[in-house]
Amino acid sequence: MRGDSVGVGLGNSADRRMNGGAIILECRVKASAFKFSPVSVSLSRSCRATILIANFSRKRDTHRPELVTFRRSEIKVMLHSLGWPQLQGPGRESLLQLFVSFVLSFLAVAVAIGGETPTNDIKVDQVGYPRSGAKIALVSAPGQTFEVKRSSDDATMFRGKLSLAAPDANSGDTLRVADFSHLQQAGKYYLEVPGVGRSWPFPVGDGVFSRTFYLAMRAFYGQRCGTAVDLGPEFPGYTHAACHLQGSFHASSGKEGPRENTGGWHDAGDYGRYIVNSGITVGTLLWAWELFGPKLAHIKLNIPETGNGTPDLLNEVRWNLEWMLKMQDDDGGVWHKQTSEHFPGFVMPEEDRLPSLVIGTGSAPYKSTCASADLAAVAAIAARVYEPYDKDFAKKNLQAAREAWTWTERYPNVTFKNPPGISTGEYGDMECGDERLWAAAELWRTTGEHAYHRYFLANYAQYLPDLRAPHAESWREVAPMGLWAYALATRQGADAPACAAIRQGALSAAREIVDRTRRNPYRVSLVATDYAWGSNGLAANYGVQLLVTNALSPDPAFVEVAQDNLHYLLGRNTFSLSWVTQVGANPYRHPHHRPSGADKNPEPWPGLLSGGPNAARQDSVLQALPPQLPPAKIYSDTQDSYASNEVCINWQAMLVFLLAGVLPGTAH
Ligand SMILES: [Zn+2]
Repeated sequence: MRGDSVGVGLGNSADRRMNGGAIILECRVKASAFKFSPVSVSLSRSCRATILIANFSRKRDTHRPELVTFRRSEIKVMLHSLGWPQLQGPGRESLLQLFVSFVLSFLAVAVAIGGETPTNDIKVDQVGYPRSGAKIALVSAPGQTFEVKRSSDDATMFRGKLSLAAPDANSGDTLRVADFSHLQQAGKYYLEVPGVGRSWPFPVGDGVFSRTFYLAMRAFYGQRCGTAVDLGPEFPGYTHAACHLQGSFHASSGKEGPRENTGGWHDAGDYGRYIVNSGITVGTLLWAWELFGPKLAHIKLNIPETGNGTPDLLNEVRWNLEWMLKMQDDDGGVWHKQTSEHFPGFVMPEEDRLPSLVIGTGSAPYKSTCASADLAAVAAIAARVYEPYDKDFAKKNLQAAREAWTWTERYPNVTFKNPPGISTGEYGDMECGDERLWAAAELWRTTGEHAYHRYFLANYAQYLPDLRAPHAESWREVAPMGLWAYALATRQGADAPACAAIRQGALSAAREIVDRTRRNPYRVSLVATDYAWGSNGLAANYGVQLLVTNALSPDPAFVEVAQDNLHYLLGRNTFSLSWVTQVGANPYRHPHHRPSGADKNPEPWPGLLSGGPNAARQDSVLQALPPQLPPAKIYSDTQDSYASNEVCINWQAMLVFLLAGVLPGTAH
């Protein structure tokens, strides 16, 4: 059994009990020929391990529990090599994980499994494929032919030959293509390769992405701060009480005392709220509305505002916008973030009693330019977008945008670093010119006023090279948003050479991405260096870039390759894992996400995109993986792996945008 095909994770803390020295872990094993789910391991300090396997039998869809006990001497050897039980303290859990992984490797070899269980060597988009267009699966084991079978009766609906094998350097896999694009009949299928096995099931149909869009967009509701949240009868038990209701100024803000600053979305796996990351997130979501609104207007998210006459996507985005507006000071500047002094433990949001602080730069003028310009940009978009639904709110946004912009003229590059005593996410950025460019473009697009236009035209050219590729940390690099905004505007008086240069830059970048994605054996746009923190967000962001370029200059190849990146995220990847919680037949299960870790539900909160493989290995779980792993494999479905398995609103927004782009229907 190959070590790289074993996925083991600590269960949610609800599954993890410390009781009289015994530790029970819920784990999962994924391997090429079989799958156990769930597996529980009980390890006692007297060095006896009991492993209970609920053996998942696909055919009968039942669970057969099986008990395996290891001999004391076997366990002792393993424990000795890991330094247990002498080891105490926070590192213990990750070592335990390693231990469990070790034990399960033994176990996997020992247990014989029938051939009916899906193999991870056949990679499909588990959410599915639209009826028209390309349908590609990938096979990472030797084979010649494949069949697509109907799940209901195992009837063969399509037969084909696998392509020649192609090595993929980023994953170390060797891949063959199974092209079943000609299969256009809607239904539920699986793919079978003689000698390899069968794939996870997947549907073919026109609306295959609708449910995932709903869950991914509704996931923002789950991130709401300052209010009770309840995902309702669809997800009973997924609730939290109102949280972070008491706000106050931190000394670094230049003010003191309490501050009513409730609302907004929890940024990621933690409970902080950050203006710069809110900027790219809200901007991306409002752009999804501006580009794909007719497809989205009727979609109900089942949130408290549903039915109020405003489309639900806008209702949800408003929740965060309202908080962003509260972060603006009377002088127009915007404080950088609102968090506790340090990250809270893995508790539910209402149990996080750390004071929620408005944090500034620590010296005059206390607000930061990047945060102020980001608010100016998104509030300028909001002024356009909300105008048909709530004129007063639109007006309020425009006023906020103008004042924030004016502040940045006075303070063009006040940057932010965590002040002493603050250790939450920094979202530091030493250069706020790109944020100002974006703000100027959006303000001009909304108002047509000369001052904003003049600033844009004087500054845009230096940012044209930024169109070539988005960055993993796209909250820091928003110049493409500014340039695209200008080119997408339909305002009279636009500068023709500027529009032509932006269009040209966007098109040549998109064509380059299409070419390299088609050459990539996984058909993902990521290059080796892209496997950094948030690489899944970057895959989604390539999709965003292609869809925006498609809006500037339509080309079916842009949409097809954008969709290829979505297929990668939804299962057509080296792990055969859907990187969206509770989506697809084989989703990841242990996000670094406090509500998922702290609640009593067996599955994580639904619709959340994982950060994905990260070759920089910035946590101890990734550091413990084998040293020679190729970049695409440096990932662990483990709660503690915040560097590869955290959720975050910015890449969540990119997933939503990408899904919105490929939903059926007509865009603007
Ligand atoms: Zn909160």
